[in-house]
Amino acid sequence: MTELPAVLDGHNDSLLALRRASADPSVFRDGHAGGDLDLPRAREGGLAAGLFAIFVPSEDRFGPERARSDTADGYRIERPPPLSPAAARRVTDDLIGVFDAITGFDGVRKCTTVDDLRACVDGDELGAVLHFEGSEAIAPDLSNFEAYYDRGLRSLGPAWSRPTQFADGVPFRYPSGPDCADGLTDAGRRLVERCDDRGVLVDCAHLASEGFWDVHEVSTNPLVVSHAAAHGVCPLSRNLTDDQLDAVADTGGVVGLTFAANALRPDGENDPEVPLSVVVEHVDYLVDRMGVDHVALGSDFDGATVVDSIGDAAGLPTLFTALRDAGYSQRDLRKLAHENWLRVLDAVWAS
Ligand SMILES: [Zn+2]
Repeated sequence: MTELPAVLDGHNDSLLALRRASADPSVFRDGHAGGDLDLPRAREGGLAAGLFAIFVPSEDRFGPERARSDTADGYRIERPPPLSPAAARRVTDDLIGVFDAITGFDGVRKCTTVDDLRACVDGDELGAVLHFEGSEAIAPDLSNFEAYYDRGLRSLGPAWSRPTQFADGVPFRYPSGPDCADGLTDAGRRLVERCDDRGVLVDCAHLASEGFWDVHEVSTNPLVVSHAAAHGVCPLSRNLTDDQLDAVADTGGVVGLTFAANALRPDGENDPEVPLSVVVEHVDYLVDRMGVDHVALGSDFDGATVVDSIGDAAGLPTLFTALRDAGYSQRDLRKLAHENWLRVLDAVWAS
């Protein structure tokens, strides 16, 4: 039996989950019963590194359960209102504190370069990259951008599924195309330009298609969507259409496949009972459309209802075993697991 490759994962929300679970971040190092990801489970699952998101929840504790309305053939979930900048900065600073705490533990490494990530893929440490999901903490004039860069920020998404100063976010709708919100604002265009200048990844996850195409126009870097799935399999508004997948491939970018049940299930329901065959179907679709060089993983551990056939970070090998059984070569598996992410981050961070 060939060894399964080390995984570089494009997205998790473990910082917020940790903050909610315990005032003591050492549960990440020692392991805890809740959530999807901690150091022991990362080791068990072969997770070598990940993008750790700062996600600021909406103040009104808006949840998908509350705001869902059923339609004739699916559902709509209305977007929460914009965050207040002060609250966004307060929670962001708090969660950067959690990031600093966990990357201070033996066995965890703060990653700001591709060399850092390669050391984790080849070694025993778990690498962590600081990412902003929605960038509400960043001032519209970018006056605090450098301060966040200095704290380790190397990746950001201009919006989650709510409007920000930089972009509109795509609402949850099923079935729906992604063309259901506005694109980048003028400040958003300046943010993308600054990211290109500084070598910070721009993540198009949760942008409406208008914003996705705006990033394509403004940025000279490969297009990246850290966690999404194929609209051709699950027609959720947050999934990527064939045109978008073609653009990602044309620019040399990458899509990280999410493990979120509502994005994977063809019926769009947030029910975790999903066989691995459905996850493999998305990988097959993305690979058929873009080629194996443009497909990677973006689990959304601790940020979504993860399909129970994977379960948590310790379950990553079950996916790779299924992919191998489906005919993917060891070389393909290495690309899906970490090489594609390393190639794209190398191109973006060096720019
Ligand atoms: Zn997300």
